[in-house]
Amino acid sequence: MEFLQPTSWGEALAAKAARPEAVPIAGGTDVMVELNFDARRPDALIDLTRVPDLAEWAVDGSRIRLGAGVSYTRVIDELGDPLPGLAMAARTVGSPQIRNRGTVGGNLGAASPAGDSHPPLLAAGAEIEVASVRGVRTIPAGDFYTGVKRNALAEDELIAAVLIPQAAGPQQFSKIGTRNAMVIAVASFCISLNAADRTAGTGIGSAAPTPRRAIDAEIFLAGALAEQGLWESRADLPESVVSEFGEKVRAAASPVDDVRGTAAYRLHGLAVMARRTLTWAWDALQTGG
Ligand SMILES: Cc1cc2nc3c(=O)[nH]c(=O)nc-3n(C[C@H](O)[C@H](O)[C@H](O)COP(=O)(O)OP(=O)(O)OC[C@H]3O[C@@H](n4cnc5c(N)ncnc54)[C@H](O)[C@@H]3O)c2cc1C
Repeated sequence: MEFLQPTSWGEALAAKAARPEAVPIAGGTDVMVELNFDARRPDALIDLTRVPDLAEWAVDGSRIRLGAGVSYTRVIDELGDPLPGLAMAARTVGSPQIRNRGTVGGNLGAASPAGDSHPPLLAAGAEIEVASVRGVRTIPAGDFYTGVKRNALAEDELIAAVLIPQAAGPQQFSKIGTRNAMVIAVASFCISLNAADRTAGTGIGSAAPTPRRAIDAEIFLAGALAEQGLWESRADLPESVVSEFGEKVRAAASPVDDVRGTAAYRLHGLAVMARRTLTWAWDALQTGG
């Protein structure tokens, strides 16, 4: 197996163009598992850890441009304020060792329906910046996941960064697992309340072939809050709004039975997580959090 080690972004894109079958490796926490279990035997790996640009993040207007190679540990330590949903999700990933190596770009590359980055990226309205020697394009997170462990990358493209709007209100993430650490989600959910433009964002994980938004639930919630003047008054949420939101999130999912849980449990859990995260986020809005 060849091990290609570009030291610049230009070299990395040239390597991917010349060898489209080569597998990029960032933290290696997915790739090395696949190699060790012989699930994959690529002719070449492209090591991205020596490309400095990928490990950087920067403020880009109202968004954070998060380099694909930024680790979960850095998201937690450095980006909790502008990206609270992603930081909460990052805290639930694996163990400290996995969080030190694992990256958001790697989570997107793997595109597992259970990946923890995806619900907060969907809820925040993130875009994925991808590049090849042919140029750069951005893909809304909602269009990036194309099937189970499949994404919208062309064979010569690499993920450069994720463009994530800075939070304009409270965000909450919740994940069901069989224990508190080192656990792949049975189901997960993220909500973003955007007080500035009076919209709500959602992201569902591990309860459909791809991570996905609950669009009807978003529209319902933003409409109910507007109709009842709640964005202004910040009065307590009516129970009917909370429970209807939970039902609409449940209706957006299409889970399967598998070793981690049944479809029925996932649907039930999603409705519970949707109600809880909405309540937590609304509490934060009421108290100015
Ligand atoms: C013990 C253990 C626990 C785990 N727990 C969790 C968990 O709780 N939650 C969770 O979501 N995941 C978990 N994972 C999975 C893994 O850690 C994450 O998916 C992580 O985000 C992968 O990032 P990485 O940098 O290690 O990716 P890699 O393993 O380096 O790459 C993953 C995939 O992305 C591709 N890739 C990487 N970078 C790029 C790029 N810039 N452009 C294009 N393609 C790219 C690779 O080719 C590969 O297909 C766990 C893994 C292990 C081993």
